[in-house]
Amino acid sequence: MNVHDSERALDALQELDYFEKTDLPAKADVVIFNTCSVREKAQEKVFSDLGRIKHLKSNNPEIIIGVGGCVASQEGAEIIRRAPFVDVVFGPQTLHRLPGLIRKKLSTGKSQVDISFPEIEKFDKLPLPKPQKCTAFLSIMEGCSKYCSFCVVPYTRGEEISRPFEEVLIELAGLSRQGVREVTFLGQNVNAYSSQTKTNEKVDLATLVEFSAAIPGIDRIRFTTSHPKEFNARLINTFYTTPQLVDHVHLPVQSGSDRVLRLMKRGYTRSKYENIIKDLRTVRPGISVGSDFIVGFPGERDSDFEETLQLIETIKFDTSFSFMYSPRPGTPAAELPDQVPLATKKSRLQTLQSLLNKHREDTSQSMLNSVQDVLVEGPSLKRKDEISGRTSNNRIVNFKGPSNLIGRIEKVRITEIMSNSLRANRLIQNAA
Ligand code: SAM
Repeated sequence: MNVHDSERALDALQELDYFEKTDLPAKADVVIFNTCSVREKAQEKVFSDLGRIKHLKSNNPEIIIGVGGCVASQEGAEIIRRAPFVDVVFGPQTLHRLPGLIRKKLSTGKSQVDISFPEIEKFDKLPLPKPQKCTAFLSIMEGCSKYCSFCVVPYTRGEEISRPFEEVLIELAGLSRQGVREVTFLGQNVNAYSSQTKTNEKVDLATLVEFSAAIPGIDRIRFTTSHPKEFNARLINTFYTTPQLVDHVHLPVQSGSDRVLRLMKRGYTRSKYENIIKDLRTVRPGISVGSDFIVGFPGERDSDFEETLQLIETIKFDTSFSFMYSPRPGTPAAELPDQVPLATKKSRLQTLQSLLNKHREDTSQSMLNSVQDVLVEGPSLKRKDEISGRTSNNRIVNFKGPSNLIGRIEKVRITEIMSNSLRANRLIQNAA
C-alpha cells in the first residue's frame, strides 16, 4: 500500500507541478519520505533517514524535504520539532495536497503540516494513474474500523471508507485500455468494501470482483489485504464463479490460539478461520493461502504459540509475513500486563519462520514439472535473454523468450525451483 501511495504522491507532483523523478537525492529539488508506523522499528527509521539527508539542505537551502505516511499522521508537528529542516508533513489521506503544501511553504517560508482525514477527497483530486506495466494496483477502500488491540492503523489512516462502485470500475476500464491485464485491489480490509450503485443497490467486494471480471482485457484479479471476520460465503463463492480471481489469497490470521485472538480483538476463532480456508479449497482446490502472524503478543504462553504452530501445520501456508509484537503508543495492547520478553519473542519468531519456510518450499517443490500460466511483466532482472512474470499463485518465474511476450499470458513448464523464484521453459518451444 505504501508503494502505491508513493506512486500516487509522485503522480500528483508530476501532473500538477511538472516535477520529474530522479533517483539521486543530491540532484533532487524535493525529497519525500513515505513512512510506516505499524511497528516501532519502521517508526524510528524515519528519523535516522532524515539525519542521513540533512546535509543536502546545507548544500542547497532551496531543497524541500517532506515526510508523509503513517509516522507523519501520528507525530504531526513533532516531526518538525525533532527535525526543524523538514518543510512539509502530510498524512496518507492528504498526499494529494502535497503540491499545495510545497507551494505554501515556498510562499510563506513556514513549514507546513496537514495530517487531516478529508475522507475520500484524495481520489477526486489525484490525477488518473498511468500504469507502467501490465499489472496495476487500484485502491478501493481506505482505513480500518476493526480496532485490533495491537494495531495503530485506525488512528493513522482513519476509519473504513469505500470508493464509489462506478468510480472504481471506470478507473479499472481506463487501466485496461492502457494495457493492464492484472489488477490488485488495495485496502486495509478490502472485504469490508461497501458501496452502492447509482440506482442505490448495495454492492460488496464479491459484486465488485464480478463486475471487474466482465471488463474486457482484465484477466487476473487479486486483492489485499482481507480480514477473516468479513470473509463471507458470497466472497468464497466468487472463487468458484470467477476464474479471473487468482489461485491465491492473503488472509492474516495473526495467531492460532483463541485466547490470544480474543485478547487481540480479532473477532473470529481459529475454527472459523480454518472453515474459511476449507470452504475456499472446496471451491478452488489448490488455492495457495498466505498470512500474517504476530508472535509474543502480551500474555502469549508457550501453549498458545504451540497452537499457532499447529494451525500452520494444518493449513500449510504459502508466502507469509511474521513479526514480533511491537507495542504501539495509544493502542490498548501496549497497556496490557505480561509483555513477553524479547528473547522469547525472538526464539518463537525463528521457530515459526522456519516452519513457514518449509511449507513455502514444499509448495514450490509441488510445482516442479507442472504447467503454469505466467503473465509476463518485463525483462528478467538477472539474464538478458530471459523474461519474467508471475503465476496465478504469485510465484516469480523466469524463462527464455522474446520481449514481445511482455503483457501476455504464456504457458510454461516449471523446470527448476530456486529460493525466491522459479525457472521454466515455454511450452510452445518444447512442441517445436
Ligand atoms: N488489515 C490487516 C489485518 O488486520 O488483518 C493487516 C494490516 S497491518 C498494516 C499488516 C500486518 O502488520 C498485520 O497483519 C500484523 O501481522 C502486523 N502488525 C500490525 N500491528 C503490529 C504490531 N503492533 N506489532 C507487530 N506486528 C504488527
